[in-house]
Amino acid sequence: MITLDLSGKNALVFGVANHRSLATAIAKELSTGGARIAAAYLSERLRGMVEKALEGMDPLLIECDVTRDEDLERVFESVRREMGGLDYLVHSIAFANKEDLEGDYRNTSRDGFRLALEISAYSLLPMARLAAPLMQGRGGSIVALSYIAAERAVPRYNVMGTAKAALEQAVRQLALELGPQGIRVNAISAGPVNTLAARGIGGFTGFLKLYEEKAPLKRNITQEEVGKAALFLLSGLGSGVTGTTLHVDCGYHSVAY
Ligand code: NAP
Repeated sequence: MITLDLSGKNALVFGVANHRSLATAIAKELSTGGARIAAAYLSERLRGMVEKALEGMDPLLIECDVTRDEDLERVFESVRREMGGLDYLVHSIAFANKEDLEGDYRNTSRDGFRLALEISAYSLLPMARLAAPLMQGRGGSIVALSYIAAERAVPRYNVMGTAKAALEQAVRQLALELGPQGIRVNAISAGPVNTLAARGIGGFTGFLKLYEEKAPLKRNITQEEVGKAALFLLSGLGSGVTGTTLHVDCGYHSVAY
């Protein structure tokens, strides 16, 4: 058994909405290893749920809407002030207007397209820009959450597929740019998991059934499996891995039948 000692490490996690969130599972793994957790949440209204999800982790909680530069700057400034530096950054957020996930892709509005790509993909850029100085001299590792719709056309995933394709390319570009500073950037392409965001995709339960039928492991993944994969990529275990998208999907991406 590998026991990781992450004491003295600081992690900033975006995307904890409740106990089901993939970000919560990642925070749990990091906290179990001894890392200190900071979590950015969208609005004060949701703070109670975030506190509950991260119970026992004694997190630093900071409000942040990633469409606002001043919010992002405040988050990283709080991390600098309260924690001194940053080792791990987790981007586990996505958003698209409901109507853009229901209708035909070709009808996606200009504003809906911009909003989905801004929140779900562009936001990784200012996060990486603000994280890099805090990661200076500490290695540093960034992980973003993606889905197979980045690579294949998935019914009803629509503009979110476009956003995920942009996100995965941004991961590669940032890995190239930040590699010389010893900072690694990777993505996890997760199989479907029943979370708030997933329920916004029409026919989601159908996806769960499809994976049970087609994935080599004949089942769906768990939040914990995403947490453990993130732990690998973020920690020293993944020290030679950057610019990659790791599929955590019971092998679904590897078959075509
Ligand atoms: P989730 O619990 O609903 O998390 C999504 C998070 O995005 C929420 O915390 C949400 O905040 C946040 N968010 C949305 N707009 C934001 C904004 N403007 N500023 C800051 N935060 C914002 O769902 P999840 O499934 O864990 O999703 C996490 C990531 O995993 C997403 O990138 C998703 O696409 C990806 N993913 C999920 C699956 C799956 O099947 N669940 C599969 C592959 C990839 P609020 O809830 O407060 O709005």
